[in-house]
Amino acid sequence: MVYLPWWALQPCPFGNSVSDMTKTRLTLSLSRALIPFLSALAFSGPVAPAHAAAPADAPPVAPKLGFPVACTLGKDCWIARYVDRTKGPEISDYTCGKRTQDGHAGTDIAVADMGRMRKGVAVLATAPGTVLRLRDGVKDESVKERGQAAIKGRECGNGLVISHGDGYVSQYCHLKAGSIKVKVGDKVTKGEPVAEIGLSGETEYPHVHYMVRLNGQVIDPFDGGLYNGGCKSGHGALWAKPITYEPGVLLPLQFSTKVRPRDSVWDAPVKEISANSPALVLMARGFHVRKGDRWHLAIFDPLGHLYTERELVMRADKQFYYQYIGRKVRGGGLIPGLWTGVLMLTGPSARAGLAPTKIKTHILVRKR
Ligand SMILES: [Zn+2]
Repeated sequence: MVYLPWWALQPCPFGNSVSDMTKTRLTLSLSRALIPFLSALAFSGPVAPAHAAAPADAPPVAPKLGFPVACTLGKDCWIARYVDRTKGPEISDYTCGKRTQDGHAGTDIAVADMGRMRKGVAVLATAPGTVLRLRDGVKDESVKERGQAAIKGRECGNGLVISHGDGYVSQYCHLKAGSIKVKVGDKVTKGEPVAEIGLSGETEYPHVHYMVRLNGQVIDPFDGGLYNGGCKSGHGALWAKPITYEPGVLLPLQFSTKVRPRDSVWDAPVKEISANSPALVLMARGFHVRKGDRWHLAIFDPLGHLYTERELVMRADKQFYYQYIGRKVRGGGLIPGLWTGVLMLTGPSARAGLAPTKIKTHILVRKR
C-alpha cells in the first residue's frame, strides 16, 4: 500500500439517515440506517496543471466530460449525492435541492449491490489526461465494519487523480482493490476504463466518489458552479451530454427469505428461493426520500393474487431509507413459480419528478 500524505482527506460529518421505525406482520425490525459518506478530498499541496494556465483574462476552456462510470443512470447506477453548494450547516445541490450532505465535495455514483460490484463496473476517465497520482491496496470493506480509525488518512480508499490540462483535475475514490489499470504518468483517453467501482475507504455501499477541480477548487460538473459557491450559480454543465437531475432514487427491490441485518442491505440479491423457505420478504431502498412520501409495497404470487402489502409514510427527509414487508410461510409453503414485488411511490418526491414511480422485481420460487 502506498500512503500519500499529500492526499489526505477531510472526513465530513456523517449524515443521519435513520429510517423510520415501523413493524410488518413479521415484526420485521429495522436498524438504524446510517450511511457515512465521503466528504471533501483536500490536497494539502497545490495541484500542478499539466500545461501552462490560460491568461487571467481568458479562463481555461472546461473539458467536455464523459460520464465516470460504464453504466446507464437510472437503470444500473444512480446518483446518490451531488456536490454540496452551500457553506455552513445548510445543504443544497446545484438546483437548490437537498440531494447532498453537508461538506460533500463530489458526486457519488452508486450501483445496486455488492454482487454488481464484484462482477465489475468500470470507472472511466472523463477526459483525456495524464495520471498524476494513485493509491491501491485498501481493502474493499464497509467502514461500518472496519471502523473509522482504520481508514484515517485514507478516506478516499483506492483512488486516482488525472490531470486534464489547464488546471483541470479529476479524482475517483472508493475504487475496488487491485482494479486500477493505469500507472502514474500514463496518458489516458476520454472514456478509457481506469479502474472499477469498489468499497474502499470511507463508504459502506459500492459507489465511486467523483470530483473535478480547477486550480484546486472543486467544481460541480452539473453546472460548473463551485463547491460551497451557492446553488444555481453555475455557468453551464461540464458534461458533454446533458444529465437530467433526479430529485430522488428508488433502488432495485430485492426478495429474501428473512429480514437481513442492517449491514446486509447492500448484499447481492438471491435469484431463487425454495417453496419451503421460512418467510418471503421484499426489501425496498431509496436515496433522498422526502417527508410525506408514500411507498406502497406489495407482493403478488405467481397467479397474480396479492400475498401481502403495506404503505409506508416517510416522517422526515432521509438521505437513505430502507424498509421491508413480508410474511412467514405457513402450511404448504409458497406456490412455486415467479413471484412479483412492487413498489409504488406517491407524494412530494413524485411531484418533484422522481421517476420511475413504480418499480418491480421478481423471484423464482422452486419446488422444495
Ligand atoms: Zn462522496
